[in-house]
Amino acid sequence: MNLPDSPISPPRAWVEIDTAALIENLSFARKASGCGIMAVVKAGAYGHGLEVISCTLEGAGVEFLGVANIGEARRIREAGVCSRIYLLGATWEAEREEIVARNITPCISSIEEAEEFAAIARRRGVKLAVHIAVDTGMGRGGFLAEGIEDHFAKLLMIDSLEIEGIASHLSSADEDEEFTWRQINSFESTVEKLGGAEHFLWRHLSNSAGILGYPMGCRNLARPGLMLYGISPIPSFQKSLKNVMSLKSRVTLVRTLPAGHGVSYGRSFVTKRPTRIATVGIGYGDGYPRHISGKGAEVYIRGAKHPVIGRVTMDQIMVELPDQSDIRCGDEVELFGKHIPVADLAAHADTIAWEILTAITPRVTRSYLPLHSK
Ligand SMILES: *Cc1c(COP(=O)(O)O)cnc(C)c1O
Repeated sequence: MNLPDSPISPPRAWVEIDTAALIENLSFARKASGCGIMAVVKAGAYGHGLEVISCTLEGAGVEFLGVANIGEARRIREAGVCSRIYLLGATWEAEREEIVARNITPCISSIEEAEEFAAIARRRGVKLAVHIAVDTGMGRGGFLAEGIEDHFAKLLMIDSLEIEGIASHLSSADEDEEFTWRQINSFESTVEKLGGAEHFLWRHLSNSAGILGYPMGCRNLARPGLMLYGISPIPSFQKSLKNVMSLKSRVTLVRTLPAGHGVSYGRSFVTKRPTRIATVGIGYGDGYPRHISGKGAEVYIRGAKHPVIGRVTMDQIMVELPDQSDIRCGDEVELFGKHIPVADLAAHADTIAWEILTAITPRVTRSYLPLHSK
């Protein structure tokens, strides 16, 4: 169909991403940790857009970008990013040739994995930098701290690999202080057992909660994810971070429904009196969580918060307005952002902020606010 003169409609739902705020949060992570930074950009930079965020962070200077898999690493390279890229989890066989070819840095969880990487590197005539992963309590990957010396001795004998770093991961840094200190101490004593800090160019175990809650020694690289995107896993540090993403939509309809009228599927909400109701053009098909239905979540329209009523549908939600409201069709609605914290929405949805951010679907347009010039 050819419609030469038809205008292009704006999106129904969109996110605004403030890259200047991202850079401020990066500076804060640097200051709070006193370390080099591996900016974690897995899962499309937590829904913020893998390529744009990776380019922005490279421009601001980071030591590494951290990703979940080679597919993400490939997209970053193809976007022209030259920074070091680190794989945060174990790899499987079919991924390893490309990892070596692109000189991506894996962490090593087993001797077999190391030997296979070495064989590929040898064949290609290169030396691959790797980090040894230590499981100090996360239970997801790495060598167990107990008995790691033997494995390390074997790793040192494998040619074509350079063990340039040592890594671990905190399981409970926003929940359990005592256990977190046990992990930190276990990491420090593992580094000592394996020859001391000077044997590893990079030593790292802190995620956002680790950076904020546990200033500590024996590490020189930190791996912030969530805090770069403006959300603190430890609420008391929230005021130190700048909001990066806002999820927005618009009012599509405003009506007054009579008393006793059901709102949305299942009629879980029925008006008690004549009620002014706005319909908004966003739903779970955009990643706005259906689980908040009936839980008291609010949206922000024209300077005030208003409750979501009835169930979230795929493309639309309903919002209760005051009787005298002057809210009209076309008004902008903030679903989360400066006024509605993601953490609050996550709590209403019985989940965590990480999941809300990464659940925003491709239908939602990402728009980037340019860096403020100083
Ligand atoms: C996701 C991840 C991080 C970042 O965690 P945040 O809590 O978002 O800061 C750091 N390290 C590893 C290994 C990860 O998988």
